[in-house]
Amino acid sequence: MNISELKKKFKKQLSGLYPSEEIQSFFSILSEKYLKLSRIEIALNPEKIISEEAFEKFQRAVLRLKNHEPIQYIIGETEFFGLPFKVNKHTLIPRPETEELVEYIISEQKPITHNSQLITILDIGTGSGCIAIALAKNLPNSKISAIDISGEALNIARQNAALNGVEVAFFHTDILKAQSLPKLYDLIVSNPPYVRELEKKQMQQNVLNHEPESALYVSDEDPLLFYRAISQLAKKHLKPNGKLFFEINEYLAVELTKHLKVEGFQNIEVKKDIFGKDRMIKCNL
Ligand code: GLN
Repeated sequence: MNISELKKKFKKQLSGLYPSEEIQSFFSILSEKYLKLSRIEIALNPEKIISEEAFEKFQRAVLRLKNHEPIQYIIGETEFFGLPFKVNKHTLIPRPETEELVEYIISEQKPITHNSQLITILDIGTGSGCIAIALAKNLPNSKISAIDISGEALNIARQNAALNGVEVAFFHTDILKAQSLPKLYDLIVSNPPYVRELEKKQMQQNVLNHEPESALYVSDEDPLLFYRAISQLAKKHLKPNGKLFFEINEYLAVELTKHLKVEGFQNIEVKKDIFGKDRMIKCNL
């Protein structure tokens, strides 16, 4: 079979399930991974014969795409903040809005870290390690730790730290049960689960059926559960002038701001993402 025949078959197998541009994009991603050919090389070599083995790989991918599995899990990797990350069903796929959170933190910290002072950072609920690792890469004077409830996620996060050549200390911890944190930090950051059950109606099958529930959902009754636990711990474990950063549910900014005020945090700043939605919060004690 040649590339042009493979592509034709692939499009036919997925038509009706995804928009045609998305099918085209899946084909490019899989070709890059399985055939080691760029989009341009694919377009220039329609007659190129592909191996039986590569064909089988495409067929397995088609089955998984028919099952609405995210393409990132199928190829086992994604990109975040311009860096490569391994992902699997135990880790949330890093989102663009989380890149904005990282950008926000870096822009706030860069002027401080320039004077060569070492800053300590903790990422709570690190998942694939994307926040911790992107910060480690971009804030050279930082010492970063990260925790997660999932041993499987930590396994991937450790691989990602090695892949990106940075050191992050990972700890297996359930933040809802933790009485204290390992030490004091200049910065605590978290993108905890914040999607309420009632919001599931608006979500896509690929997220609902394949991404880890424990990384995403909270009950409608107590959606700020993780923010309460983390802000309590941050009160004891932030250094003087230390900062707390959160990714937040766009509908819960007001409620969370109120809560943080009651807890004694100041200079609470809500920041919108590129879609104009309240997505990040920064504060200090
Ligand atoms: N922004 C993610 C989503 O909408 C949710 C991330 C989270 O719960 N922390 O899928």
